[in-house]
Amino acid sequence: MQKNKTGRKLLGLMSLITMILSACDTTDTGSKENTKQAVPVVQQKQPDQIAYPPVDVDMELKQVSEHVYYVQGQAGIATDNAGFISNAAAIVTSEGVVVFDALGSPSLAYKFYQKLREVTGQPVRKLILSHYHADHIYGIQVFKDMGAEVIAPAGAELYLDSPSSQERLEERRFSLDPWVNESTRLVRPDRFVTDKTQFEMGGVSFTLDYLGEAHADGDLTLFVEPDRVLLSGDIIFEGRVPFLGDSNTRQWLKTLEAMETSGLVALVPGHGPAASKPNEAVQATRRYLAFVRGKMHNAVNNMDSFDEVYDEIDWSEFEHLPAFKEANRRNAYQVFLSIEKEFLNQE
Ligand SMILES: [Zn+2]
Repeated sequence: MQKNKTGRKLLGLMSLITMILSACDTTDTGSKENTKQAVPVVQQKQPDQIAYPPVDVDMELKQVSEHVYYVQGQAGIATDNAGFISNAAAIVTSEGVVVFDALGSPSLAYKFYQKLREVTGQPVRKLILSHYHADHIYGIQVFKDMGAEVIAPAGAELYLDSPSSQERLEERRFSLDPWVNESTRLVRPDRFVTDKTQFEMGGVSFTLDYLGEAHADGDLTLFVEPDRVLLSGDIIFEGRVPFLGDSNTRQWLKTLEAMETSGLVALVPGHGPAASKPNEAVQATRRYLAFVRGKMHNAVNNMDSFDEVYDEIDWSEFEHLPAFKEANRRNAYQVFLSIEKEFLNQE
Protein backbone atom coordinates (compact mmCIF):
# COMPACT_ATOMS: atom_id res chain seq x y z
CA MET A 1 0.00 0.00 0.00
CA GLN A 2 2.75 2.40 1.08
CA LYS A 3 4.65 1.64 -2.10
CA ASN A 4 1.56 2.41 -4.09
CA LYS A 5 1.13 5.76 -2.40
CA THR A 6 4.72 6.69 -2.99
CA GLY A 7 4.30 5.62 -6.59
CA ARG A 8 1.30 7.88 -6.98
CA LYS A 9 3.12 10.77 -5.36
CA LEU A 10 5.97 10.21 -7.75
CA LEU A 11 3.53 10.15 -10.65
CA GLY A 12 1.99 13.39 -9.40
CA LEU A 13 5.43 14.96 -9.19
CA MET A 14 6.30 13.70 -12.65
CA SER A 15 3.10 15.10 -14.09
CA LEU A 16 3.85 18.44 -12.46
CA ILE A 17 7.29 18.44 -14.05
CA THR A 18 5.80 17.46 -17.41
CA MET A 19 3.27 20.27 -17.01
CA ILE A 20 6.02 22.82 -16.42
CA LEU A 21 8.08 21.41 -19.26
CA SER A 22 5.18 21.39 -21.70
CA ALA A 23 4.30 24.95 -20.69
CA CYS A 24 7.90 25.88 -21.53
CA ASP A 25 7.61 23.97 -24.80
CA THR A 26 4.64 25.96 -25.94
CA THR A 27 6.24 29.31 -25.21
CA ASP A 28 9.45 28.21 -26.92
CA THR A 29 8.04 26.82 -30.11
CA GLY A 30 4.64 28.44 -30.28
CA SER A 31 3.39 25.14 -31.67
CA LYS A 32 -0.37 25.14 -32.14
CA GLU A 33 -0.75 21.54 -31.08
CA ASN A 34 1.04 22.15 -27.83
CA THR A 35 -0.87 25.26 -26.85
CA LYS A 36 -4.07 23.22 -26.86
CA GLN A 37 -2.58 20.56 -24.60
CA ALA A 38 -2.44 22.65 -21.43
CA VAL A 39 -2.72 19.70 -19.07
CA PRO A 40 -0.47 16.66 -19.44
CA VAL A 41 -2.17 13.29 -19.47
CA VAL A 42 -1.07 10.69 -16.95
CA GLN A 43 -0.57 7.11 -18.14
CA GLN A 44 -3.82 6.20 -19.78
CA LYS A 45 -4.68 4.72 -23.10
CA GLN A 46 -6.10 7.57 -25.17
CA PRO A 47 -9.31 7.09 -27.13
CA ASP A 48 -9.14 6.75 -30.86
CA GLN A 49 -10.87 9.92 -31.95
CA ILE A 50 -11.44 8.66 -35.50
CA ALA A 51 -13.95 6.20 -34.04
CA TYR A 52 -16.04 9.08 -32.74
CA PRO A 53 -17.41 11.41 -35.44
CA PRO A 54 -17.28 14.97 -34.06
CA VAL A 55 -20.50 16.33 -32.69
CA ASP A 56 -21.37 19.99 -33.04
CA VAL A 57 -23.23 20.85 -29.85
CA ASP A 58 -22.61 23.43 -27.14
CA MET A 59 -21.05 21.59 -24.25
CA GLU A 60 -19.77 23.68 -21.40
CA LEU A 61 -17.95 22.07 -18.49
CA LYS A 62 -19.30 23.73 -15.35
CA GLN A 63 -17.69 23.52 -11.96
CA VAL A 64 -20.15 22.82 -9.15
CA SER A 65 -17.74 22.54 -6.21
CA GLU A 66 -14.06 22.00 -5.53
CA HIS A 67 -14.01 18.53 -7.12
CA VAL A 68 -17.29 18.22 -9.05
CA TYR A 69 -17.81 19.27 -12.67
CA TYR A 70 -20.68 18.53 -15.05
CA VAL A 71 -22.02 19.12 -18.54
CA GLN A 72 -25.70 19.77 -19.04
CA GLY A 73 -27.77 18.34 -21.88
CA GLN A 74 -30.59 20.37 -23.35
CA ALA A 75 -34.23 19.74 -22.57
CA GLY A 76 -35.93 17.83 -25.35
CA ILE A 77 -36.62 14.39 -26.68
CA ALA A 78 -33.91 11.75 -26.92
CA THR A 79 -32.82 12.52 -30.46
CA ASP A 80 -32.77 16.34 -30.16
CA ASN A 81 -29.45 18.17 -30.02
CA ALA A 82 -27.49 15.19 -31.41
CA GLY A 83 -28.72 13.18 -28.43
CA PHE A 84 -27.18 15.57 -25.90
CA ILE A 85 -30.17 15.71 -23.57
CA SER A 86 -28.76 14.21 -20.38
CA ASN A 87 -26.06 15.30 -17.97
CA ALA A 88 -22.72 13.74 -17.13
CA ALA A 89 -20.47 14.67 -14.23
CA ALA A 90 -16.88 14.13 -13.18
CA ILE A 91 -15.21 14.22 -9.82
CA VAL A 92 -11.60 15.30 -10.24
CA THR A 93 -9.19 14.20 -7.52
CA SER A 94 -5.41 14.23 -7.18
CA GLU A 95 -5.36 10.46 -7.77
CA GLY A 96 -7.75 10.11 -10.67
CA VAL A 97 -11.14 11.04 -12.05
CA VAL A 98 -14.50 9.41 -11.42
CA VAL A 99 -17.04 9.97 -14.19
CA PHE A 100 -20.75 9.76 -13.46
CA ASP A 101 -22.95 8.78 -16.45
CA ALA A 102 -21.76 8.54 -20.02
CA LEU A 103 -24.16 10.53 -22.28
CA GLY A 104 -26.12 9.40 -25.34
CA SER A 105 -23.37 8.62 -27.85
CA PRO A 106 -19.64 7.80 -27.88
CA SER A 107 -19.07 11.09 -29.71
CA LEU A 108 -20.69 13.07 -26.88
CA ALA A 109 -18.69 11.12 -24.28
CA TYR A 110 -15.50 11.79 -26.20
CA LYS A 111 -16.29 15.49 -26.35
CA PHE A 112 -16.95 15.44 -22.60
CA TYR A 113 -13.61 13.69 -22.08
CA GLN A 114 -11.83 16.38 -24.10
CA LYS A 115 -13.45 19.03 -21.89
CA LEU A 116 -12.15 17.20 -18.82
CA ARG A 117 -8.69 17.20 -20.31
CA GLU A 118 -8.75 20.99 -20.14
CA VAL A 119 -8.95 20.86 -16.34
CA THR A 120 -7.04 17.71 -15.41
CA GLY A 121 -4.41 15.31 -16.67
CA GLN A 122 -5.53 12.62 -14.24
CA PRO A 123 -6.75 9.35 -15.74
CA VAL A 124 -10.41 8.36 -15.59
CA ARG A 125 -10.32 5.45 -13.15
CA LYS A 126 -13.99 4.73 -12.66
CA LEU A 127 -17.22 5.29 -14.56
CA ILE A 128 -20.37 5.06 -12.48
CA LEU A 129 -23.75 4.76 -14.17
CA SER A 130 -26.83 6.04 -12.34
CA HIS A 131 -28.96 3.66 -14.41
CA TYR A 132 -29.06 1.97 -17.80
CA HIS A 133 -31.13 4.05 -20.21
CA ALA A 134 -30.03 4.87 -23.74
CA ASP A 135 -29.47 8.59 -23.12
CA HIS A 136 -26.85 7.84 -20.43
CA ILE A 137 -24.97 4.76 -21.60
CA TYR A 138 -23.86 4.84 -25.23
CA GLY A 139 -20.72 6.70 -24.23
CA ILE A 140 -19.57 3.98 -21.81
CA GLN A 141 -17.18 2.41 -24.33
CA VAL A 142 -15.06 5.58 -24.50
CA PHE A 143 -14.16 5.27 -20.81
CA LYS A 144 -14.16 1.45 -20.71
CA ASP A 145 -11.66 1.32 -23.58
CA MET A 146 -9.28 3.60 -21.67
CA GLY A 147 -9.34 1.17 -18.77
CA ALA A 148 -11.88 2.75 -16.43
CA GLU A 149 -13.80 0.36 -14.17
CA VAL A 150 -17.52 0.46 -15.08
CA ILE A 151 -19.88 0.35 -12.09
CA ALA A 152 -23.67 0.16 -12.30
CA PRO A 153 -26.66 -0.60 -10.11
CA ALA A 154 -28.00 -4.14 -10.00
CA GLY A 155 -30.97 -4.22 -12.35
CA ALA A 156 -28.88 -2.90 -15.24
CA GLU A 157 -28.54 -6.53 -16.38
CA LEU A 158 -32.32 -6.68 -16.90
CA TYR A 159 -32.00 -3.84 -19.37
CA LEU A 160 -28.95 -5.34 -21.07
CA ASP A 161 -30.59 -8.76 -21.39
CA SER A 162 -33.88 -7.43 -22.74
CA PRO A 163 -34.55 -7.45 -26.49
CA SER A 164 -35.56 -3.80 -26.22
CA SER A 165 -32.00 -2.67 -25.39
CA GLN A 166 -30.84 -4.07 -28.74
CA GLU A 167 -33.85 -2.63 -30.57
CA ARG A 168 -33.22 0.77 -29.03
CA LEU A 169 -29.58 0.69 -30.11
CA GLU A 170 -30.65 -0.15 -33.68
CA GLU A 171 -33.12 2.71 -33.63
CA ARG A 172 -30.47 5.15 -32.35
CA ARG A 173 -28.00 4.02 -35.00
CA PHE A 174 -30.59 5.34 -37.40
CA SER A 175 -31.84 8.45 -35.55
CA LEU A 176 -28.44 9.53 -34.15
CA ASP A 177 -26.41 8.69 -37.24
CA PRO A 178 -23.41 9.10 -37.53
CA TRP A 179 -22.66 9.45 -33.80
CA VAL A 180 -24.32 6.20 -32.82
CA ASN A 181 -23.07 3.73 -35.40
CA GLU A 182 -22.02 0.14 -36.03
CA SER A 183 -19.10 0.50 -33.60
CA THR A 184 -21.39 1.65 -30.79
CA ARG A 185 -21.95 -1.19 -28.39
CA LEU A 186 -23.75 -1.95 -25.16
CA VAL A 187 -21.16 -2.35 -22.41
CA ARG A 188 -21.79 -4.53 -19.38
CA PRO A 189 -20.61 -3.15 -16.04
CA ASP A 190 -17.50 -4.64 -14.43
CA ARG A 191 -19.20 -4.40 -11.08
CA PHE A 192 -22.81 -4.26 -9.88
CA VAL A 193 -23.78 -2.29 -6.82
CA THR A 194 -26.45 -3.92 -4.65
CA ASP A 195 -26.06 -1.98 -1.45
CA LYS A 196 -24.68 1.22 -0.01
CA THR A 197 -21.04 1.29 -1.16
CA GLN A 198 -18.20 3.65 -0.25
CA PHE A 199 -14.72 4.30 -1.56
CA GLU A 200 -12.04 6.97 -1.38
CA MET A 201 -9.87 8.51 -4.06
CA GLY A 202 -7.39 11.33 -3.66
CA GLY A 203 -8.87 12.50 -0.36
CA VAL A 204 -12.42 12.53 -1.71
CA SER A 205 -15.03 10.18 -0.31
CA PHE A 206 -17.66 8.62 -2.56
CA THR A 207 -20.90 7.08 -1.31
CA LEU A 208 -23.06 5.11 -3.71
CA ASP A 209 -26.62 4.69 -2.57
CA TYR A 210 -28.42 1.79 -4.18
CA LEU A 211 -32.09 2.63 -4.63
CA GLY A 212 -33.32 -0.55 -6.30
CA GLU A 213 -36.03 -0.17 -8.91
CA ALA A 214 -37.24 3.44 -9.13
CA HIS A 215 -36.78 5.40 -12.35
CA ALA A 216 -35.20 2.37 -14.05
CA ASP A 217 -34.72 -1.34 -13.24
CA GLY A 218 -31.93 -0.25 -10.95
CA ASP A 219 -30.91 3.24 -9.82
CA LEU A 220 -28.11 4.64 -7.76
CA THR A 221 -27.01 8.06 -6.55
CA LEU A 222 -23.53 9.28 -5.71
CA PHE A 223 -22.73 11.52 -2.78
CA VAL A 224 -19.38 13.33 -2.84
CA GLU A 225 -17.61 14.55 0.30
CA PRO A 226 -16.19 16.90 1.45
CA ASP A 227 -18.07 18.80 -1.30
CA ARG A 228 -21.48 17.60 -0.09
CA VAL A 229 -22.75 17.35 -3.64
CA LEU A 230 -25.29 14.71 -4.66
CA LEU A 231 -25.35 13.30 -8.18
CA SER A 232 -28.86 11.96 -8.44
CA GLY A 233 -29.22 10.53 -11.94
CA ASP A 234 -32.78 10.52 -13.24
CA ILE A 235 -34.60 10.25 -9.96
CA ILE A 236 -34.46 14.06 -10.05
CA PHE A 237 -35.32 16.10 -13.12
CA GLU A 238 -34.72 19.80 -12.72
CA GLY A 239 -36.58 22.38 -14.76
CA ARG A 240 -38.39 19.95 -17.05
CA VAL A 241 -41.05 17.29 -16.97
CA PRO A 242 -39.48 13.99 -15.90
CA PHE A 243 -39.37 11.08 -18.30
CA LEU A 244 -41.22 8.27 -16.55
CA GLY A 245 -40.66 5.58 -19.20
CA ASP A 246 -41.23 2.18 -17.61
CA SER A 247 -40.41 3.37 -14.13
CA ASN A 248 -41.87 2.13 -10.90
CA THR A 249 -43.38 5.45 -9.78
CA ARG A 250 -44.58 4.06 -6.46
CA GLN A 251 -41.03 3.08 -5.47
CA TRP A 252 -39.59 6.25 -7.00
CA LEU A 253 -41.92 8.48 -4.99
CA LYS A 254 -41.08 6.57 -1.80
CA THR A 255 -37.36 7.09 -2.49
CA LEU A 256 -37.85 10.83 -2.90
CA GLU A 257 -39.96 11.04 0.22
CA ALA A 258 -37.17 9.40 2.20
CA MET A 259 -34.42 11.51 0.68
CA GLU A 260 -32.44 13.69 3.07
CA THR A 261 -31.40 16.88 1.33
CA SER A 262 -30.85 19.28 4.21
CA GLY A 263 -27.05 18.98 4.35
CA LEU A 264 -26.46 19.23 0.61
CA VAL A 265 -24.60 22.10 -0.99
CA ALA A 266 -25.71 21.22 -4.52
CA LEU A 267 -27.47 18.53 -6.47
CA VAL A 268 -26.63 17.53 -10.04
CA PRO A 269 -29.68 15.88 -11.60
CA GLY A 270 -29.75 13.51 -14.57
CA HIS A 271 -31.33 16.23 -16.67
CA GLY A 272 -31.42 19.99 -16.15
CA PRO A 273 -29.17 22.42 -14.32
CA ALA A 274 -27.40 21.72 -11.04
CA ALA A 275 -29.56 22.88 -8.18
CA SER A 276 -28.07 24.94 -5.39
CA LYS A 277 -31.36 24.47 -3.56
CA PRO A 278 -31.51 20.68 -3.66
CA ASN A 279 -34.60 20.52 -1.55
CA GLU A 280 -36.61 22.45 -4.14
CA ALA A 281 -35.42 20.19 -6.95
CA VAL A 282 -36.45 17.10 -4.99
CA GLN A 283 -39.79 18.67 -4.13
CA ALA A 284 -40.49 19.53 -7.77
CA THR A 285 -39.99 15.96 -9.02
CA ARG A 286 -41.84 14.61 -6.01
CA ARG A 287 -44.79 16.96 -6.65
CA TYR A 288 -45.04 15.90 -10.28
CA LEU A 289 -44.95 12.19 -9.47
CA ALA A 290 -47.48 12.58 -6.67
CA PHE A 291 -49.77 14.63 -8.92
CA VAL A 292 -49.74 12.17 -11.82
CA ARG A 293 -50.10 9.19 -9.52
CA GLY A 294 -52.95 10.84 -7.61
CA LYS A 295 -54.91 11.66 -10.78
CA MET A 296 -54.32 8.27 -12.37
CA HIS A 297 -55.19 6.49 -9.16
CA ASN A 298 -58.59 8.21 -9.14
CA ALA A 299 -59.12 7.39 -12.79
CA VAL A 300 -58.40 3.69 -12.29
CA ASN A 301 -60.43 3.63 -9.11
CA ASN A 302 -63.45 5.13 -10.94
CA MET A 303 -62.83 2.86 -13.94
CA ASP A 304 -62.67 5.91 -16.20
CA SER A 305 -61.13 5.76 -19.63
CA PHE A 306 -57.67 7.24 -19.85
CA ASP A 307 -58.38 9.58 -22.77
CA GLU A 308 -61.41 11.18 -21.14
CA VAL A 309 -59.66 11.68 -17.84
CA TYR A 310 -56.46 13.01 -19.37
CA ASP A 311 -58.20 15.84 -21.19
CA GLU A 312 -60.12 16.87 -18.10
CA ILE A 313 -57.09 17.17 -15.84
CA ASP A 314 -55.83 20.67 -15.10
CA TRP A 315 -52.13 20.38 -15.96
CA SER A 316 -51.42 24.10 -15.60
CA GLU A 317 -48.86 23.58 -12.81
CA PHE A 318 -46.61 21.68 -15.24
CA GLU A 319 -47.70 22.82 -18.71
CA HIS A 320 -45.09 25.56 -18.94
CA LEU A 321 -42.18 23.17 -18.25
CA PRO A 322 -39.88 22.01 -21.04
CA ALA A 323 -40.65 18.54 -22.39
CA PHE A 324 -44.26 18.74 -21.18
CA LYS A 325 -45.67 18.27 -24.67
CA GLU A 326 -43.32 15.43 -25.51
CA ALA A 327 -43.48 13.54 -22.25
CA ASN A 328 -46.57 14.26 -20.23
CA ARG A 329 -49.29 12.28 -21.98
CA ARG A 330 -47.08 9.23 -22.28
CA ASN A 331 -46.04 9.57 -18.65
CA ALA A 332 -49.64 9.76 -17.51
CA TYR A 333 -50.62 6.73 -19.60
CA GLN A 334 -47.73 4.72 -18.27
CA VAL A 335 -48.75 5.54 -14.69
CA PHE A 336 -52.37 4.74 -15.52
CA LEU A 337 -51.36 1.25 -16.71
CA SER A 338 -49.05 0.63 -13.79
CA ILE A 339 -51.73 1.63 -11.27
CA GLU A 340 -54.13 -0.75 -12.99
CA LYS A 341 -51.55 -3.45 -12.34
CA GLU A 342 -51.11 -2.34 -8.74
CA PHE A 343 -54.90 -2.72 -8.30
CA LEU A 344 -54.86 -6.21 -9.83
CA ASN A 345 -51.99 -7.29 -7.62
CA GLN A 346 -53.86 -6.22 -4.51
CA GLU A 347 -56.72 -8.61 -5.24
ZN1 LIG B 1 -32.26 10.14 -18.70
